[in-house]
Amino acid sequence: DVVLAMKGISKVFETQELQTYALRSIDLCIYRGEYLSISGPSGCGKSTLLSLLGLLDMPTSGEYLIEGKNVSALSLNQAAEIRNAKIGFIFQSFNLIDELSVFDNVALPLRYHHSKPNKQVIAEKVKACLEKVGLGHRMSHKPNQLSGGQQQRVAIARALVAQPAILLVDEPTGNLDSKSGDQVMQVLSELNAAGTTICMVTHDPRYGDMATRQLKLLDGEMLGAVNTNEALSA
Ligand code: ADP
Ligand code: ADP
Repeated sequence: DVVLAMKGISKVFETQELQTYALRSIDLCIYRGEYLSISGPSGCGKSTLLSLLGLLDMPTSGEYLIEGKNVSALSLNQAAEIRNAKIGFIFQSFNLIDELSVFDNVALPLRYHHSKPNKQVIAEKVKACLEKVGLGHRMSHKPNQLSGGQQQRVAIARALVAQPAILLVDEPTGNLDSKSGDQVMQVLSELNAAGTTICMVTHDPRYGDMATRQLKLLDGEMLGAVNTNEALSA
């Protein structure tokens, strides 16, 4: 069961006369239930790849499918709709809203969700997700009353709350000390063990150790990747 599939995806940035190939003909399949890590040095195209996977940007060429639906050429509105329904993001900088409580930060994706859940459903889902990341006792705190590791776990709860098809994770421990970083990686492993599909990009291949599959990106090219056509017809 393929969640995300890219076929021959390229991304070219044009600045004045200069053309930068950030990604070159990427073939990639992400299967339901797996924890994929993609590592590579700074500038190899990790952020660009995650932006395309998360529909934050569109490719220059190639085909991209989310749960079998072709999403290679969407309007901004269509992209936002699919993004909200299907994708959960976790960034290096936690991107929480300081003025809102932990509860309200985690509730945010549900308040904009097409299913329009009522207050009680929102409260139950927010509580369940915060308990999954070990923060059921911190719902009325503000983000700046929490440690960095706790803030990242709030961000994980927020990414999970609308039950996305996949979590896209960008360097989740980059702003954390090693102990909090280990806790965050532990939470991601537990979520994957419970069935959550994860794709993480990182500059440090050691962080990929918890993943069920590891790929390497170098100069915009995926090393040792699968043939997407074969995978989709299998
Ligand atoms: P990484 O996340 O692995 O550090 P990026 O995806 O940020 O790599 O960048 C890949 C390449 O694309 C780099 O050469 C970078 O300079 C270039 N690039 C990324 N974003 C832009 C942009 N908006 N405009 C021009 N070049 C860009
Ligand atoms: P945990 O091990 O559960 O992640 P920590 O040892 O990091 O927790 O923090 C213990 C408590 O101290 C937290 O519940 C939090 O309220 C408080 N705390 C930790 N770091 C900070 C910080 N930078 N600013 C404010 N409060 C903090």
